Amino acid sequence: MRKGTVLFAVVLSICLSAWGCDDDSTSAGIGQADADTDADTDTDGDADSDSDTGAGLVVVSPEDGEHYWRLEPVTFAGHTPGALEVFADDTWLLGGADEAGDFEFTYTFHGVGARSISFVVDGSVELEITVNIDELKARVCLEPGHPSSVGDKLYEAIINRKVAFYMEDMLRDAGYEVLNVVDDIGYEEIFDDDFDNEGAAEQALLQVKSLAARVADCNDWPADYFISIHHNAVDNPNPNYTLTLYGQDPSYVPWFPGAPDWASYTTDRLLDAMEVTHGIATGDRSFLGFSLYVLRNTNMIGILTEGSFYSNPAERERLNDNDYLYGEADAIFQGFIDFVE
Ligand SMILES: [Zn+2]
Repeated sequence: MRKGTVLFAVVLSICLSAWGCDDDSTSAGIGQADADTDADTDTDGDADSDSDTGAGLVVVSPEDGEHYWRLEPVTFAGHTPGALEVFADDTWLLGGADEAGDFEFTYTFHGVGARSISFVVDGSVELEITVNIDELKARVCLEPGHPSSVGDKLYEAIINRKVAFYMEDMLRDAGYEVLNVVDDIGYEEIFDDDFDNEGAAEQALLQVKSLAARVADCNDWPADYFISIHHNAVDNPNPNYTLTLYGQDPSYVPWFPGAPDWASYTTDRLLDAMEVTHGIATGDRSFLGFSLYVLRNTNMIGILTEGSFYSNPAERERLNDNDYLYGEADAIFQGFIDFVE
């Protein structure tokens, strides 16, 4: 859920001194109080949107100190005892109301930082609050690969999930919104000391979710970036390189112009973090001869990482070490940060 959406539902009242509120810091909104109507007014400080007392300025939102994402509309709402003007930094008129009554308008802030907001009723400042406009962080969709059919690549599916869980934490800590499109195994469960990546019981927890459903989740959200997480395997036990693919198609090469850079940053980071022989960053069609479903059908820029080869016995042993997977996740995360920031 996006920051701010929940807080719109929180009712903030501006206490009137006539109500006996204790907090002087929020008691600026005294309008033309009418003693006859006080009996109809909540005395616990809760603003009543149906109140017709006209007793004073009541601001339901925004709340003092509230945070919003840049470009997220801020809704100003409440009740005013007179003509209302709302200013940012004392000079910048955001909106208001021509006469007493309920008011509501929205305003979209473009810059970032703390903004002093003044509510001016009939020419005098009745209330000042601060709203904080935060940098808009992007939405990242994580797609840990497999199983697309039962019995297929179950070991890989588990280590893909572990890497995705670590990345989810890293991205959230950095302020990004994250959607992980699989939820068959919980974080606590998969990182339990007794969890066996190779175990039949553990692998039985995996649930099929089609590529179409995974892609739809990212598109419907909608995400700004897409990362598909995989590990590689071949019949030969020797190969162990890291590979990052981006979408590529004859009609539009590459699929997104920035994707080769992103893939290349990611490969560089993976090469540093993992015990692999070399790294490759390339378009899916050039490398595979076809384009990957998840890169072709997601509507946002994306990459698919094949961290290393679990068909290489020494590498498979390393992949069973969660610290090693954490390092891999950090590499993919750093590659993303290299690209976007
Ligand atoms: Zn895979």
